Amino acid sequence: MTSATSGRHARFRHFLRTVASTHDRELDCEEVNRILARYVEVEVSGGSGDDVAEGVPLHLSHCPHCAEMYETLRHLADLEAHDELPEVGALWCELRGATRAASASA
Ligand SMILES: [Zn+2]
Repeated sequence: MTSATSGRHARFRHFLRTVASTHDRELDCEEVNRILARYVEVEVSGGSGDDVAEGVPLHLSHCPHCAEMYETLRHLADLEAHDELPEVGALWCELRGATRAASASA
């Protein structure tokens, strides 16, 4: 009797695990790349990234490539949100200044 009951329980637990893992289905890099910009956009605007795809944080937690992409997008989005996205001209001046400083110290 007891063994039959625990057998049923084991099957039920297995079923639950299967359902849970399907729900937390992991996204692959291609899927993450496709939704990452939207994900960051929602996050920066104060929304929850889970509305876009709840599997993204899980993927980012163990995929350095996508995590790096996320960091870059997030950084740019933050700058843009605060209207601090540098003009290309300003970037160019900064770059030229840096090169000049480097060659002056050499
Ligand atoms: Zn990835």
